[in-house]
Amino acid sequence: MAFPTNSQAGCVRPQILFPLFADVTTLPGLGPRLGKLVEGAIGPHVVDMLWHLPSGIVDRSYTPRIAEAEPGRIATLTVRIEGHIPSPAPRRPYRVICRDASGDIDLVFFHARGDFLVKQLPVGETRVVSGRVEFFQDRAQMAHPDYIAKPEEAAEIAGVEAVYPLTAGLTLKTLRKAVRGALDRLPDLPEWQDAAWLARQRWPAFRDALETVHAPQSEADLLSLTPARQRLAFDELLANQLALALIRAHQKRQSGRVILGDGRLRALAEAALPFTLTGAQRMAMAEISADMDSEKRMLRLLQGDVGSGKTVVALMAMLTAIEAGGQAALLAPTEILARQHLATIERLAAPAGVKVALLTGREKGKNREAILAGLASGETGIVVGTHALIQEDVVFRDLMLAVIDEQHRFGVHQRIALSGKGRGVDVLVMTATPIPRTLTLTAYGDLDVSRLTEKPAGRKPIVTIAKPTESLEEVVAAVERALNAGNKVYWVCPLVAESEALDVAAAEERHAALAQRFGPHAGLVHGRMKGADKDRVMEEFSRGAVDLLVSTTVIEVGVDVPAATIMVIEHAERFGLAQLHQLRGRIGRGDKPSTCILLYQKPLSETATARLKILRETEDGFVIAEEDLKLRGAGDLLGTKQSGMPTFRLADLSVHGELLQAARDDARLVLDRDPELQGERGQRLRVLLYLFERDAAVRYLRSG
Ligand code: ADP
Ligand code: MG
Repeated sequence: MAFPTNSQAGCVRPQILFPLFADVTTLPGLGPRLGKLVEGAIGPHVVDMLWHLPSGIVDRSYTPRIAEAEPGRIATLTVRIEGHIPSPAPRRPYRVICRDASGDIDLVFFHARGDFLVKQLPVGETRVVSGRVEFFQDRAQMAHPDYIAKPEEAAEIAGVEAVYPLTAGLTLKTLRKAVRGALDRLPDLPEWQDAAWLARQRWPAFRDALETVHAPQSEADLLSLTPARQRLAFDELLANQLALALIRAHQKRQSGRVILGDGRLRALAEAALPFTLTGAQRMAMAEISADMDSEKRMLRLLQGDVGSGKTVVALMAMLTAIEAGGQAALLAPTEILARQHLATIERLAAPAGVKVALLTGREKGKNREAILAGLASGETGIVVGTHALIQEDVVFRDLMLAVIDEQHRFGVHQRIALSGKGRGVDVLVMTATPIPRTLTLTAYGDLDVSRLTEKPAGRKPIVTIAKPTESLEEVVAAVERALNAGNKVYWVCPLVAESEALDVAAAEERHAALAQRFGPHAGLVHGRMKGADKDRVMEEFSRGAVDLLVSTTVIEVGVDVPAATIMVIEHAERFGLAQLHQLRGRIGRGDKPSTCILLYQKPLSETATARLKILRETEDGFVIAEEDLKLRGAGDLLGTKQSGMPTFRLADLSVHGELLQAARDDARLVLDRDPELQGERGQRLRVLLYLFERDAAVRYLRSG
């Protein structure tokens, strides 16, 4: 079967999907104004409505007689309208008296328009009303019924309705109508799943699955493990795994190069290290060397808990590239981190005689030109930088290795953009966030992994304690004692609001208060400061006059000041587990014992209590990551929204982990047999990729 597309290249969404990618404003009941709301809350396209799943149900199937209606319950009643009593005074309601054979009930309306109600509820006629029945001064009443309808419509109303997560300004009725509209637009799509597999799983067809999830009949139908939900989750996961596999296959197709160093520079750098490498570091280095000197392109994840010493390992890989006559680049997510990497790397590269440059958004004009010239000529062996590295005019003489730090902040495309600056560039991705196996799979697909499981020798454990905000004064006193004893302290202020400005204000306020007590010893750093100012404060904290550093979460990733031994985290209950773990990893880096104080605001939710408990109990990042996945579900993990980690609309990795494995296996099998997705199932799977907006991956197919 062939699917028409509107481009010869075949890299454009198939026509069959066009109705689903129309603007949401084209759906019934959504004009431009409501459309904007839906766009912001749910998504811009019709297809986004399909993925917006119900979060609850309203059961209107209870149809008692008035006298028997249980108070507090939603009921659908068939009543005769007896009379109208308009609102006797402002703020008193308008009442409509209704009756059936068993008794009376008042329909109650505040701020009502009488003429409208007279038309809706004509005296003497019978109507079906549905809503919550309550008792007020011994009279049954129903305030603002959800439905008022003619008797012949009773059957339609007296059923179970889906409830959707809402956003301010959108009513359930509007949303339901729009979802219905979206379902009605669903074209007859070809079945992209393997028939035998569907039969074995007893999963419904795609259309049936969508209809089912949008028409729950009971609470049980809302669970993630219903056949319909599983089918849809699997569709989404398969699209994810297929896309990753295509990108990977594309990268592997471009053959790599044999990058074989003679070990000369590495030996010089190692001799300059003030410590000995751990066994885990040596193992990772060996794995990386083996990848680099093979014909295949390296795509390896170097995963290690904070402070496990990834930078040194990366440096050794970079030196290998230089020994082989090439260059290496390190891409960092923030300027602070880029500078810090530069400092570490320069220190060790200098003894090896390798020239290292820094390139961030702040290098401009003549300075930037000089850096670019050094890269183009090959005089500069290593460049460390931020996104600025990816710009088009950054050209290398011979880039052999791209190292990407804290990868979960970057998308796959930045990774490709950087490695595209050379021929068959080897890629090493470093992540300090221990990511559970399931998530690694969704973010990177099947790549090779080296793990640094062992902390460098001599590290002392971190004692973690939790204190309610009421103990603030006590904590400040403890901080004072610690400062007097020559320790350095981090004081972290959390995200307060959606707005960065407000977060900064909170940090400024705390800084002002602490500065009153500690004077110029207290410094402040936050995301809104100019780069140079940030650097100066960090520098002062690392070596100089500042011993107490108040900050927003800008210090979250990677910052390395071994002399810092105390961290106070305000409103710890607002952070995710992984983030708290990341933050805490800034201390415990030296040979002195460290303490982390989690200040929390009472009352603590159950999850927040669990999070703080786990942190007090373990420092093992992998354990913490697994617990986090259980507590929060994958959607929230790592603060996925800004992170570049894929977010799923239908799959929930905390329950669909096994489906992910199956999706990976299926993707592999499909591409083994049909690497270009040309066969019948291949063509259908292309539709799936477009449906889940994995368009970019389709581009890596050689033809359409
Ligand atoms: P990560 O990037 O994994 O969080 P870093 O590479 O920044 O960790 O290393 C953290 C600190 O530990 C640095 O100060 C680094 O110099 C030091 N370090 C790295 N490896 C060792 C080791 N084998 N022994 C002692 N200290 C080490
Ligand atoms: Mg690091």
